[in-house]
Amino acid sequence: MSTPDREFSGLLTVVAVAMVDADGRVLLQRRPEGTSMAGLWEFPGGKVEPGELPEAALIRELREELGVDVEAACLAPATFASEALGDRHLLLLLYACRKWKGIPQPLHAPELRWVRPVEMHRLPMPPADRPLIGLIEALL
Ligand code: C5P
Repeated sequence: MSTPDREFSGLLTVVAVAMVDADGRVLLQRRPEGTSMAGLWEFPGGKVEPGELPEAALIRELREELGVDVEAACLAPATFASEALGDRHLLLLLYACRKWKGIPQPLHAPELRWVRPVEMHRLPMPPADRPLIGLIEALL
């Protein structure tokens, strides 16, 4: 049996959303300075807290990060990605959403951008987010 280089310290479950507007553009946010992968463009979202349902976590994160209200019924599971992240494994669950209340504001991020899927290929994104672009393109 092989010994891992570093001790595995758990699975980090992160939920994120592809918010799609009436023109088929998707909302991305830039990761702030002082965080891991600062400056990269990601699908908005965040960590699922222990005992929290993924959809509840995403609704909470979208309220905190963007100031928008989303109903669970408007979150469609789209795809997922898994990635080694230091001594942990990241499981990124991506939902698609076409209906929300409010105008997204960059409450935590330095910048938000509505982009066409083809433009996403040119933006630097975290490794877990990048493979999800193709699926989002297929969905639109
Ligand atoms: O945003 P936060 O720092 O809570 O995210 C936890 C981890 O999940 C970070 O390492 C972040 O890079 C990663 N993440 C990601 N893609 C996202 C959201 C978070 O890779 N869309």
